[in-house]
Amino acid sequence: MNSEQYREFGKRMIDYSANYLDTLRSREVYPNVKPGYLKELIPDSAPVDPEPFENILEDVERVIMPGVTHWHHPNFYAYFPTGNSYPCILADILSDTLGVIGFSWASSPACTELEIVMMDWLAKVIGLPEHFLSSSDSGGGGVIHSTASEATLFTMFVARDIKGGSDTNVRKMVAYGSKLAHSSVERACLLGAVQYTSVAYDHNYSMRGHDLEESIQKDIEKGLIPFCVVATLGTTSCCSFDNLKEIGEVCQKFDLWLHVDAAYAGSAFICEETRHHMSGIELADSFNFNPHKWLLIQFDCSAVWIKDKIKLANAFRVDPLYLQHENQSQAVDFRHWQIPLGRRFRSLKLWFTFRTFGVNAFQKHIRTSIQMADYFANLVTSNDNFELFRPQSMGLVCFRAKGSNDQNKELLARLNGTREVHLTPSEIDETYFLRLAICSTQTTYKDLDKAFELILKHFKDL
Ligand code: PLP
Repeated sequence: MNSEQYREFGKRMIDYSANYLDTLRSREVYPNVKPGYLKELIPDSAPVDPEPFENILEDVERVIMPGVTHWHHPNFYAYFPTGNSYPCILADILSDTLGVIGFSWASSPACTELEIVMMDWLAKVIGLPEHFLSSSDSGGGGVIHSTASEATLFTMFVARDIKGGSDTNVRKMVAYGSKLAHSSVERACLLGAVQYTSVAYDHNYSMRGHDLEESIQKDIEKGLIPFCVVATLGTTSCCSFDNLKEIGEVCQKFDLWLHVDAAYAGSAFICEETRHHMSGIELADSFNFNPHKWLLIQFDCSAVWIKDKIKLANAFRVDPLYLQHENQSQAVDFRHWQIPLGRRFRSLKLWFTFRTFGVNAFQKHIRTSIQMADYFANLVTSNDNFELFRPQSMGLVCFRAKGSNDQNKELLARLNGTREVHLTPSEIDETYFLRLAICSTQTTYKDLDKAFELILKHFKDL
């Protein structure tokens, strides 16, 4: 493909992408295919001779679309949202065009420098304490990772290094998270070869200081070495919030690293009225949220801040000659802040999107999602056959038909089987419930009415 053809097909690709997003409503939200469907539609080895690009574009509808779950469909209510927006897509085109690998300042100065400023912008808009900013005296700073899982794993590695010292028996080290912490926390412990203790939650599904302290004391009596706590702000199952202040005080008492996982709910802190959930954040050593979940930024863009960037950068420093450069004593080299070496120019997504929309638009987006969830929660409570599992939290409604778990499982299977809506479940304390997350920017109140009508229809047929 030459540049002329690139221009031509590039324009067509943008048209295709705009049409796709404009007409999403006409598609079924969930694909109707079985595992292995795609293998039947394309050859089993790569073409030896070139094919017209035209044919490839045509095959997108034939091969790819039948197997796509449409995450931005107005009736997609599963998991948590993942963002996308036009300026952000354009930023990715630029990132792909430049194709730089910004592992060090020298490998592409703009890539590192924009990221530093964008992480400060983000920290300020969500109200993080000063000490996380790159300009702070305490030496804080932020970096973009690919996912919250990577952020937890990496900060846990740093905590293990700093809190454990060099001659500690790693296998005796233990990290803590609520029983409702995301599975990536336990997985980080497995990958890091440390132990994991999950801590009880209270009646609000919140991990509390006294329960954490009790778990720590028990582990110390067993000869284990506590080193790190992961507190969750916005749990995946039901968007509950751990008590950061109490947890932070316990961490200080036992000299433990406190990492905060706010993967989904962190975006909401752009609205001041939600920030009470962050009370105690000044006690955290590291904080993470995914702008790619709820802030109109598409995957991948997971923001991580750390109080002490020197400790972080030195924790796993390996400095071969071929990666060194003459400015490294004055510049940030993000390769020391992450697991992979290579990194994309992801901060362009934040820069383009924040400038195109402005902070007010992000606040409006978050508030609209919360209001819509509130609206749906009211539909649920106004019907005698349904109940909320717990009060709606942020843009998530956890609800169930009054009845057995099996009835609710069947209800969800039937709903998803229609392919008109897509929801995912969760289960806490042996109670199975359905989760409806406001995900798409195209969802309307009418969509929510229709979704609830569909739920009632299938409930009657149970
Ligand atoms: N933490 C929480 C609270 C989450 O809800 C999720 C995913 O939804 C994750 C971590 C994992 O996110 P990622 O896919 O960015 O690793």
